[in-house]
Order: sequence, then structure tokens, then C-alpha cells
Amino acid sequence: MSDLTAPYDRNNIFAKILRGEAPCVKLYEDEKSLAFMDIMPQVDGHALVIPKCEATNLLDLPPDYAAAAIATAQKLAAAVQKATAAPGILLAQLNGSAAGQTVFHVHFHILPRHQGLELKFRVREPEPAENLEPLAQKIRAAL
Ligand code: AMP
Repeated sequence: MSDLTAPYDRNNIFAKILRGEAPCVKLYEDEKSLAFMDIMPQVDGHALVIPKCEATNLLDLPPDYAAAAIATAQKLAAAVQKATAAPGILLAQLNGSAAGQTVFHVHFHILPRHQGLELKFRVREPEPAENLEPLAQKIRAAL
């Protein structure tokens, strides 16, 4: 549980990914942001973008990192769209437990949307990296 004023926890999983202490299926990175596949995808092609700074949620995200994360989210949205041929892209960003946030390093979800195909909310089983890799390759190729 974490409310909007909770201090940043350096042991959260995305902090570990940023420090190279935990693996991810990487899609893209630049000086201020990193994009990778969501390990429990709500739909095929579900990607995440995080800023490379210690921010718990949108409210404590410095504007220069917010700008970098959005620019990367825009880039990824285009690549995910191309790779999945999705007619829609949903950008989602949750702040605080009450809003459904479960990882307390600010992140942006990129979700391809197809008419009539429901999102699988609260997936609990991590997908093995090799299952995420084929679509990740298509997304990287579309960047
Ligand atoms: P939220 O509910 O907005 O905090 O979303 C957190 C997201 O992070 C969920 O969609 C999880 O599936 C995803 N996630 C958790 N751990 C990892 C991980 N190690 N690598 C990639 N995605 C993860």
C-alpha cells in the first residue's frame, strides 16, 4: 500500500531493473527513460515506459523526466501500434494504491486495443521472457 505522499522505495522492482539488478525484456532506452515489456501483459504487446529517476508517481516526477517519459511513450505507442496492427492504443498511468498502482516507481502503460478484445486485469502469473521476446523484436524493429 502506498499513498501519494509515500517516500520513494529504492527496493521496488523497477528501481532494480534500472540498476541492472533485475532482468527485463528491453525495448528502448535513452538518457532519461527506459521502455520494456510488461511481464504480466494485460494484452499482447503491453509495454511500459519509466523515467530514469527516483519518482514514486506523477506528482513527484520532475518535469524534464516527465517530458522524456512522454516522448518515449509516444515513440513506443507508434512502434507497438505498428508491431501489433492494433487499431487503438491506450496509455494508462496509475498513481497511488487507491488508483490501482502496484509498483511504486512512476510508469506509463502502453496497451494495444482491439475492438471487443477485453484487457486481462490483474494478471498474476509472470510470462517467461522467451514468450515476450518475439513481439518485443517486432516492436524494436518498428522503432
Ligand atoms: P501498476 O498496477 O500500474 O502499478 O502496474 C505495474 C505493472 O508492472 C503491472 O502491469 C505488472 O505486470 C508490471 N510488472 C511488475 N513487475 C514487473 C517486471 N519485473 N517486469 C516487467 N513488468 C513488471
